[in-house]
Amino acid sequence: MRKPGIASVLTRGVGRRILGLFILAGILPVIFTGYLGYNEVHRALENEANNTLRTNAQGYGVEILARLERICDKAEEIVRVINRYGIDTIGRHEYLLDDFESIAMVTGNGARRSLHGTHRSSIALSTLDLKHLAAGKSQLVHTTGTAGTGLALILAADLTRPLESAIAFRLQADKIWGTQNDTPHLTDYCVFSAHGDRLFCTSEMPGDLHATLASTDDSRSSAPATWQVDGERHFAAMWQLSLDTPFRHHAFDIVASQPQVYALRSGADFRRVFLPALVLVIILVAVLSFNFIGQSLVPLRRLTIAARQYAGGHLSSRVRIRTGDEFERLADAFNNMAARLGRQIATLKAMSETDKLILSGAGFEEVSEHVIDHLIRLTGCEAAAVIARDADSANRAKMISGFCGEYIHERIGLPMELGHQWCQPRQVSLREVDPSVAPYKARLQSYGREFAVIIPIVLNDDLKGILILGSVSKFDMNQQRLKRCVDLAGRVAVALASVERDEALYRQAHFDPLTGLPNRQLLKDRLEQQIVHARRKQNSGAMLFLDLDRFKEINDVHGHSVGDVVLMQAAERIVAEVRDTDTVARLGGDEFVIVMPHTHGENTVRAMASRLLARLSEAFSVRGVNHFVSASIGIVMFPDDGESVETLLKNADSAMYRAKDAGRSRFEFFSRRLNAESQRKIDLERDLRDAFQDRELEVYYQPQFDIDSGVISGAEALLRWRHKEQGFIPPREFIPLAEDSALVVEIGRWVIQRTCRDLRRILNKGLHPGPVSINVSARQLREAGFASDVLEPLHRFDIHPGYLQLEVTETTVAQNRDTAIDTLNTLRAEGVRVAIDDFGTGYSSLSYLQQMPFDIIKIDKSFVDLIGSGDASENICRTIITMAHELGKEAIAEGVETRAQLDFLSEHGCDFVQGFFYSKPLPNLEFVEFIEKQDFHTQRRKALEIA
Ligand code: C2E
Ligand code: MG
Ligand code: MG
Repeated sequence: MRKPGIASVLTRGVGRRILGLFILAGILPVIFTGYLGYNEVHRALENEANNTLRTNAQGYGVEILARLERICDKAEEIVRVINRYGIDTIGRHEYLLDDFESIAMVTGNGARRSLHGTHRSSIALSTLDLKHLAAGKSQLVHTTGTAGTGLALILAADLTRPLESAIAFRLQADKIWGTQNDTPHLTDYCVFSAHGDRLFCTSEMPGDLHATLASTDDSRSSAPATWQVDGERHFAAMWQLSLDTPFRHHAFDIVASQPQVYALRSGADFRRVFLPALVLVIILVAVLSFNFIGQSLVPLRRLTIAARQYAGGHLSSRVRIRTGDEFERLADAFNNMAARLGRQIATLKAMSETDKLILSGAGFEEVSEHVIDHLIRLTGCEAAAVIARDADSANRAKMISGFCGEYIHERIGLPMELGHQWCQPRQVSLREVDPSVAPYKARLQSYGREFAVIIPIVLNDDLKGILILGSVSKFDMNQQRLKRCVDLAGRVAVALASVERDEALYRQAHFDPLTGLPNRQLLKDRLEQQIVHARRKQNSGAMLFLDLDRFKEINDVHGHSVGDVVLMQAAERIVAEVRDTDTVARLGGDEFVIVMPHTHGENTVRAMASRLLARLSEAFSVRGVNHFVSASIGIVMFPDDGESVETLLKNADSAMYRAKDAGRSRFEFFSRRLNAESQRKIDLERDLRDAFQDRELEVYYQPQFDIDSGVISGAEALLRWRHKEQGFIPPREFIPLAEDSALVVEIGRWVIQRTCRDLRRILNKGLHPGPVSINVSARQLREAGFASDVLEPLHRFDIHPGYLQLEVTETTVAQNRDTAIDTLNTLRAEGVRVAIDDFGTGYSSLSYLQQMPFDIIKIDKSFVDLIGSGDASENICRTIITMAHELGKEAIAEGVETRAQLDFLSEHGCDFVQGFFYSKPLPNLEFVEFIEKQDFHTQRRKALEIA
């Protein structure tokens, strides 16, 4: 990895902070220490220069003293010579005279005698220390004379009489001060008198220098005095040469001076080395700092990059730091975290992918292969398998195993008892496990596995199967791995549940739960395919729409449980009759559809329909009781009779209704004419609503007669519809249409009111027609307000309830058994009469009849029609009359058209008759006229009976 450069160090917050610290802790002390050291060295150098200068001054002073002493010796010698040989001999000792400018004899009275040299100077003996002179010592004095000021040595001429005469030796200046050549290199001297008079200087020095040096304490002063000449600094130090003892003279102040550069020359090397060394140290510190910071930032940088990569989802990348410090530990922690996160994310990804797969509706096999794939990847073992128990058979299962990217799907048997080996996560050795409890053994061994880890797949406490991991060696099953596997097992359980639920939903959506036959939805799907197929192959198929006749009555009378059994048996019979390639579907209720692809003409279909009718007309035995139903079948051929499922179903339905209309238990092929009829029905229903609004409806009255006297005993109110365009439309056609919608309730209410109104008018005329019957449909009877719909007009028109008779069929009552019976009881309690219409055509159950509240039974026209034909109908008519009488009720026959019928009925004790033999249904006015023709007295008698 690239080392971070200076720029990158400086641009980073941490780098900048560490650098700042380094400058504070490293470079500043170095600079500070350097500064102090430099100062200290400078001071030491100055000290040394000071000492050197002083030593030089001292050396120079000692030299002056030595010269003075030597000169003094010469002077003493001269004095001795004079004393011994006389003054005049002095000239002979020239070797003694070269140090002196002049020698003169001075007497106490001020006389002066020159002995040598020309120079004249005045010396007063009185100023001298005679005691000192008397001791034979010399005294040094200042003289002024013709050659200026100078120094002179004074010695007593005669030691015994020192006050009388002395010899003054004026000294040659260069003999005292020496020559310039004698002084050390670049060192200048100045000798000052104690009063600051300059006695001698090798070079010019400022006048105030002596005063400056004298004012500083010599002994303590460590720094030399400085002065400048021509911009060059000089150092100066002073030493005092004491002359009191030998020469009875004030001390000489000797000043030595050197240029500063020269004086500090020993420090020049230091200065030359020190600054570069300091800079070097600073550079070194800086470089080391950068290097150190750089080194420290590398791991930080790597950790940052790693963190970014983790954040970007690259959890496989690792940080490599081998610094052996906290950074390495942090990197290890990072790597561990990434590894754990990687595993967790891989698990979560596996889970979410599995979930997605489940939600996308993938099959169990696909989900299992996916899970096996993930198991192998997450656990590192190379083989895995899923065993899933069959939903319907506990001991059969499918096993999907995966190894090296290949999957094997197989069916296996499971042990009868799935012991604890199946219920808890555990590891088994394949060599040791019994194959009877481990059906996966052979497969895993074929993969070269030695051990298997079993993880149960449980959902809602139900063991759905197991997950198996195959391993060559014993598998390290730690908690985390186990948890991941258990989580995946959970997903498989969900997938299994989802598949089961999907299958259940599919069954629910496509199959009829009662018979197990395809429902309308599946029928549509298959039929669509057949239509397409037939069109493509240019052949034709058939669809049979089958409806059980009177099945509703079985349900109503015997209950739904019996009806269900009949339906199941009917379904079985239909399925048994059709070919394998045919589809039998139940549309709901008692409707079945049979789709026959590839029919060879109508005859095949005809034969099939006949077989079905025959099979379905056989008795259905439920709990030992035989029930009889028949079927009506409508047949369509596709694609001729319709190109869409809807059209075919509609047309087949129409054909089926036509079969029903044509007398049931038969089949009808769809025809265009039939189609037109059904369209007419739709139009009629629409027109009926308008007709009701437009008052196209009318009530006719068909008189009923006492069979014995032939007198009007009552009438039946019958609805008539005179269509604007189509003319008279029979009630048998439009009443079922009204019954299909709620219109029949409104119409029924209107019929009651109209009848009451007509009755009132008849009664107002003083006529008494007897009870007038009104037909009531099932839908009306179901209405909660039906009783008041009946009673309200009676009260309004002030009609005795005995004038009204309600005609209900057994089926009408059966359809809302309890409420219907209650309603009829209520109305009967009020005096309204009840007749059972069409008796014999429905469920003529005696026990049922016992519970029904009624006053009179109407024998259906179909039985009356057959009187005289030698049919069983005559017996039925007879039985009904007898039964009515036995129950304490009356009997009336409807549809009587012939004298023979009338005679038969009269002979067998029928109470009343109604039929064309007497009269057709009449419009109100004609009906009134009809009654009026009747015997007035007879009418009156009837009225009295009712009241
Ligand atoms: P239903 O109650 O059985 O009425 C008797 C039917 O038989 C009437 O037919 C009547 O005209 C007819 N009929 C009577 N005597 C003879 C005869 O000697 N020969 C022949 N061929 N027919 C005879 P209609 O009027 O066509 O009524 C048919 C059915 O319509 C009625 O059968 C009844 O169930 C229903 N219906 C008629 N009016 C109403 C009504 O206002 N409300 C309800 N809910 N249904 C009605
Ligand atoms: Mg009737
Ligand atoms: Mg009838």
